[in-house]
Amino acid sequence: MSQIKIDMTVYDSIETKLMAVHPAYRSKDPEIKRLLKFRKKLTKVLFEGIEPSTDPNYFCETCGSHSHLEHPVTAFCFVCNTDNWKREEYADVGQ
Ligand SMILES: [Zn+2]
Repeated sequence: MSQIKIDMTVYDSIETKLMAVHPAYRSKDPEIKRLLKFRKKLTKVLFEGIEPSTDPNYFCETCGSHSHLEHPVTAFCFVCNTDNWKREEYADVGQ
């Protein structure tokens, strides 16, 4: 079990900032890149021990992850914990 304590107010405020500059992962802004890196790090701690679900039809447009891993309950990105899915080009699904 990790010893890091996450301040959820700070954690959530990072998401607000990231979503404001959507799509964040393409941003060259060093502050945005720093926040995204920080959020990914905290998410890893927060999701420790949780088994992710997979949906190969979508990738995360916030962090750019094509791991297709999502939280089993919220279906948010397992890497950055945002709900910003984009359809993969090869996806066999409707819009
Ligand atoms: Zn993500």
